[in-house]
Amino acid sequence: MAQLLGNKDRQRERALFEALMIRVSARTEKAMAQEISRAMKAAAVAYEKEGDFGLLGVHHDHIGQVRRILTACWKTAVDTFGQRIVDQAKGYYPRHIKSQGVVRPEMYERILAEYIGLYGGDEIELVSNTTKQQIRQIINNIRGEGGSVPEIAKELRSVAPGFGKVRALCISRTETHSAAGYSQNEMMNATGMAYKQEWVACLDGREREEHAVANGQTVGKSEAFIVGGESLQFPGDPAGSPGNIINCRCCAVYEVV
Ligand SMILES: [Zn+2]
Repeated sequence: MAQLLGNKDRQRERALFEALMIRVSARTEKAMAQEISRAMKAAAVAYEKEGDFGLLGVHHDHIGQVRRILTACWKTAVDTFGQRIVDQAKGYYPRHIKSQGVVRPEMYERILAEYIGLYGGDEIELVSNTTKQQIRQIINNIRGEGGSVPEIAKELRSVAPGFGKVRALCISRTETHSAAGYSQNEMMNATGMAYKQEWVACLDGREREEHAVANGQTVGKSEAFIVGGESLQFPGDPAGSPGNIINCRCCAVYEVV
């Protein structure tokens, strides 16, 4: 008989997934808010000193910091959600796997390395370029109004904390969600079990219409979900368009067959 992994109530399982996601993304949120604010303040200093030329160094440093913060974020998500699958699937191993010990500690490292190889560069570029564009836009706006260099620097300093906070929440949740979905998917595959996967949407009125439609969609082990006309291997699949994955709170549940 088919057995659902985790909580037997799908919405309850999704709520547990989301609660864990919020918990593990908190550190990334804090670090990212601080970094975006720091970069904007550093831009104010550099712009006062060297004008546009000074911004090059600020952007370079920002890329390095974003890379460090996101790498830590993905590692936490891969470890936490991979482990969750291992724990949930444990009881089914003896029935489904002939050779024991398929899920080894190095699996986590492999999943993380693959995830970074596939999506890491683009994600780091996207986040750091957005900061760069925001800084550029502030400068251009004030310049366009005839503002002076000190006025531009003052504005950058004053908007820095707010810009950091708003973006950090979205970045931390989205990045954690994507890496969590990838890790669960890879870990399920690694168990070698036969299973089906079902898309579970958050149905609280804030969900995307296409995701509510996808709720209950069931596909085979290596098949993709079709959501909003796109093919997604798991909720939050970075291969999807930003409009289909940013701030998504859906998850996949697995049914051992
Ligand atoms: Zn969703």
